[in-house]
Amino acid sequence: MLADNIFLKIIDKKIPAKLAHEDEHCLAFHDINPQAPVHVLIIPKKVIPTHADLTDTDQALVGHLHLVARKLAAELGLGDGYRLVINCGDRGGQTVPHLHMHLLGGRDLHWPPG
Ligand code: AMP
Repeated sequence: MLADNIFLKIIDKKIPAKLAHEDEHCLAFHDINPQAPVHVLIIPKKVIPTHADLTDTDQALVGHLHLVARKLAAELGLGDGYRLVINCGDRGGQTVPHLHMHLLGGRDLHWPPG
């Protein structure tokens, strides 16, 4: 089942995505249903279904995802602020079972989220 998720197909280039970044550990691409003028998803290439599945061995990977997010925020003109979101599990609003970080910006973002 996990091998079928849509983000793995993007990693494997079986379906297209508008890439913003790729390296040996992760991929970033523009969300197909953007919730802000900038809405990029940053995903590990390693299969990790949810944030709750992270382990101590993922420490460097998690740091890397954040540093890629920071780099993309600068490249995409979000110097005035942005938001990083990780939805986890059903009640967290996660719809794709492959860990992903949302990078949102380009408009005022309010709190609390829905
Ligand atoms: P989440 O609800 O946190 O699991 O976020 C999943 C995100 O993936 C949503 O914002 C979707 O719009 C996005 N999404 C789903 N399929 C694709 C796709 N093929 N290309 C880009 N983004 C996608």
